[in-house]
Amino acid sequence: MNISELARRLNVAPNTLREKLPELGFDIGKRAIKIDNILAQRVVEAWKLMEREEMKRKRAELKKRVVEQKESAEGVVQQKRVELPSVITVDNFAIRLGMPVTKLIAVLMQNGVMAALNERIDFDTAAIIAEDLGFFVDRDLTGSETTAEDVKKQKLEQALSSQKEENLITRPPVVVVMGHVDHGKTTLLDAIRETNVVATESGGITQHIGAYQVQIKGRPITFIDTPGHEAFSMMRVRGGQVADVAVLVVAADDGIMPQTLESLSVIQRAGIPFVVAINKVDKEGADIDRIKQQLTELNLLPEDWGGKVVCAQVSAKKRTGVEELLETILLVADLEELKADPTAPACGTVVEARVDRGEGPVATILVHTGTLRIGASIVVGNAYGKIKSMIDYRGERVVEAPPSMPVKIIGLKTSASVGDICEEVASLKHVKKQRDFRIRIEDTSSIHHSKDKDSDDEDHPVKEYPVILRADVIGSLEAIISSLSKLNDPSVRVKVVHQGLGDFTESDIKQASDMGIDVLGFNVTVSQAGKEVLSSLEHRIEPHQFSVIYELLDFVKERLEALLDPEEVEHIVAKAVIIALFKKVGKDVIIGARVEEGTLDPQALIHVMRGREEIGEGKVVELQIGKQSVPQVKSGSEFGAKIRIDCDVQEKDALIAYIVEMKKRTLSL
Ligand code: GDP
Repeated sequence: MNISELARRLNVAPNTLREKLPELGFDIGKRAIKIDNILAQRVVEAWKLMEREEMKRKRAELKKRVVEQKESAEGVVQQKRVELPSVITVDNFAIRLGMPVTKLIAVLMQNGVMAALNERIDFDTAAIIAEDLGFFVDRDLTGSETTAEDVKKQKLEQALSSQKEENLITRPPVVVVMGHVDHGKTTLLDAIRETNVVATESGGITQHIGAYQVQIKGRPITFIDTPGHEAFSMMRVRGGQVADVAVLVVAADDGIMPQTLESLSVIQRAGIPFVVAINKVDKEGADIDRIKQQLTELNLLPEDWGGKVVCAQVSAKKRTGVEELLETILLVADLEELKADPTAPACGTVVEARVDRGEGPVATILVHTGTLRIGASIVVGNAYGKIKSMIDYRGERVVEAPPSMPVKIIGLKTSASVGDICEEVASLKHVKKQRDFRIRIEDTSSIHHSKDKDSDDEDHPVKEYPVILRADVIGSLEAIISSLSKLNDPSVRVKVVHQGLGDFTESDIKQASDMGIDVLGFNVTVSQAGKEVLSSLEHRIEPHQFSVIYELLDFVKERLEALLDPEEVEHIVAKAVIIALFKKVGKDVIIGARVEEGTLDPQALIHVMRGREEIGEGKVVELQIGKQSVPQVKSGSEFGAKIRIDCDVQEKDALIAYIVEMKKRTLSL
């Protein structure tokens, strides 16, 4: 066999093979071209052994590094953080700190604060206690004592604590891919999916359900496959523990950018290990050393520079380095010892939710504990239902979903929201009742689904102002969405049709033009592709760009106010008292009366008052003084009138005449 053929089989350069052979104990000379087949077979075996040893060594090294990385991160970067409002009850404070309330009460007592379970303590006191307990305290400006996140966290903690130690089994790691816009997250997720999803038996088409699983070395890994900004939201749920490992994508030709830093801070807050995927290494301007230098400047020294940060070089477009990245993810995940109890009541998180025309409300649940099964009764945020069918990421029907598996479920009665917790319940009988009692805090996602919840009756349909919204970083996007939801009024509201991070894309512009809606951006511009579409549009649109949040909010406020129906405001113009009743003519009554205040004119609208009570209403049809019709009657004059009213009148009843003015309504911020 030729040496070059053998080298090809072993996937190395012929010269490298020639150099290595003596190290493996084969002395065939540096210029040899051929090698006999028996010897070649022995070389292959020795080579494989060497590779296995090398892999083992690498694993051991990596393990050491990741352990060190975790230890140092726990000490320095990942100090636990807690957000506290201006006042908080002791039990909610315990939830936020993630500690048993009895223990917190004891700590409070040690510090001279005698407070019972539902007593309130102020921010300053709570902050001192939290800092004493090793937390870094942030101020929670939402003003809400219990946030939606707290409620979710509490539920998950309850579910996780119901697992039985003896039933725990190893579960696949759940991975989230984060990074700056355009650095290749979507392409990487596609590359991983295309190269590693196991083909379905029926040859079904892979479905996008918000998460998928791949097999590497016979072991599954779950990838959360949501758009960039939703990945951020996912990280916030469950105290940031929906994902077990993060992949931070950095484009080799662009380097660390604002959303890279934001992703890093979210990952560090969540306290999960991460792998840096240096992507686009195929590109001309790719400069891997520059990325490593930038990481170093952030105190994240790469492993091959003597540090602890694990980096993998990939080209998502050319599909290179993907296998190695997956192997690295497995190595990192193995150190986390991820386990779950498949026999516990099922509990998971919604990673994608929508209303399908044919299937109704559907949601993809990522199972954390227990096993979801067809027929199970579930409560998902404010929605509930019985699972009618389940579909996996390969489009195949499945009957059960064990821990770490994502499944699309059909059977919910109303729509769920991304980030909602899905809990299996024994029966749905009491769910509706329970829901009314549950502390319901609207989170930002409710802006999309508020239709179900608001007083949207047929007589007073809620008018919507639909927008496509983009911001540079998730922090701004969330702040804007939260402020927009506060602008909602019973009769008008903002509907965010699409939201995202980074510049307006081609599809934003197309969608906005097709739907005739506004596109609003905060600290973003229109991408090159977007500009091209913009200039070719038949229905031209103007993207609105802002760099001050209040200006964006003022803009939206004006648009909403323009949708508001004007308010009818009554102005009282006169008061008259009935002094005689003459006769009834059909619906009309002829009366004698006297104007006490103001000036009364024919066609005036009137409230009929008896004492302090309004007994009816109507209008003046004709006014007369003597036998003459008159255009008005002034204060102090007596007159005869024909009035059309919806009640019976008697002497001494008062007629309050008014005019209606249409007044433009405004929203208060
Ligand atoms: P995302 O916004 O992070 O999801 O980025 P995308 O996956 O949408 O990628 C943005 C652009 O970069 C697309 O035009 C991709 O084709 C391109 N891209 C992604 N990965 C690579 C890569 O490895 N090499 C090259 N040359 N281009 C890439």
